Amino acid sequence: MSESPRVLVIDDEPAICELIEAVAESAGFSVRTASSPAEIEESIQGRFDLVVLDLSLGELDGIEVMSRLGTTHRGLPVILVSGADETLITTAGRIAEMHRLRVIATFAKPFSLDLLRSAMLEWTHVANERIDPTGPRLRIDDEALFDPEFMHLVYQPKVSVSTGDVVGVEALVRWRHPDKGDVSPAAYVALVEDLGRTSELLDAIMTMAAHDRFRYRALASMPDVSLNISVLDLDDDELPRRAQRILTTTSPAESWTFEVTETTPIPDLTPTVAVLTRLRLAGFKLAVDDFGTGTSNYERLLVAPFTELKIDRAMVSRLDASAAEPDAMVRSGVDVGHSLGLQVVAEGVETVEQFTLIRSLGCDAVQGYFVSAPVKPVQIDAALDRWAENFEVLGLDR
Ligand code: C2E
Ligand code: MG
Ligand code: MG
Repeated sequence: MSESPRVLVIDDEPAICELIEAVAESAGFSVRTASSPAEIEESIQGRFDLVVLDLSLGELDGIEVMSRLGTTHRGLPVILVSGADETLITTAGRIAEMHRLRVIATFAKPFSLDLLRSAMLEWTHVANERIDPTGPRLRIDDEALFDPEFMHLVYQPKVSVSTGDVVGVEALVRWRHPDKGDVSPAAYVALVEDLGRTSELLDAIMTMAAHDRFRYRALASMPDVSLNISVLDLDDDELPRRAQRILTTTSPAESWTFEVTETTPIPDLTPTVAVLTRLRLAGFKLAVDDFGTGTSNYERLLVAPFTELKIDRAMVSRLDASAAEPDAMVRSGVDVGHSLGLQVVAEGVETVEQFTLIRSLGCDAVQGYFVSAPVKPVQIDAALDRWAENFEVLGLDR
């Protein structure tokens, strides 16, 4: 690097900008500072090699700035500083990585200027030795696996059958291949499992869901957001701690549910049950997903502290108003669920007939195209407004 490296310092307090500016100059950087929203807007369009970013910027927020920087300055090294507590800074660091920024250090205010100077100096040493960071990336496919450019979450509402009110949403992963187009979540999850990278997937999904909940009002105020996990994730002792660290920074544990999908039968339930129990003790809720498909069975319900039972859509699709007797499976699922004190949800409800039957069978909530397809966060409010137009016809007018 022949010219001096450039650093952009973003902090809404001009006095802090000045302090950091002095430190950066002494470390050999040429410095630009930005405090007001207008300065920030303008400065992030420019060229620089490193950013020192405050997370709370008054009118603007640091998360927003990271997302903008991620699109224009992929791979940019970032030093995060904040007056918020450590956990929040850690989450912000993950969000930065999601936006393909490289977090090289984080500092909670008040921090030592000497340590900041060392972090900057260390970066210049590494940068001088490194090959071009904007050069071709290795193993693009592997990296793209959890890259927010290809992966995002959609959310499907779950509503009460008695009031029609939304009781939560389920987050469902979507992955779009640049050449091959949409990849079904089943194929994508199977691929990730084959590669043995399920815990990275879960981390990416938890981070993304926490981020969405932080950014979108419809999700911030949602009573519950559920995430799908595979039983393979429940082998991991660290999961309860990771979940707490990532999820509870934006919303309390009680407002998150883990849906356990069983793709492979597990011979020994004990470690799984321990992890499930610890998640529950931490306050998270737990749902048995795809009940009635044969992979999730009655035994499972009795051994772990579930809070919800989701009747698979295969059962629901067999419900037909013309049938003399509604499917006994659904009825027994409702009975078992209720006798264990679980909330019972019917999945895949597509028609008014199915909705009415499900209600008469005593399910507590429904999810399905009849209410809404899975939608992007910004479309949730509109989807719920459209759903509310059915209230009168369904006798839900309160
Ligand atoms: P699931 O957890 O049982 O999710 C419900 C699936 O039913 C979703 O499919 C949803 O789009 C679909 N669905 C909802 N309402 C209706 C309806 O009325 N009719 C019909 N025909 N389908 C409906 P999707 O999004 O394709 O996901 C499929 C499965 O992939 C999920 O089943 C879940 O097991 C898995 N999956 C999705 N996202 C994730 C994830 O983030 N992590 C993990 N581990 N698995 C995931
Ligand atoms: Mg599910
Ligand atoms: Mg399901």
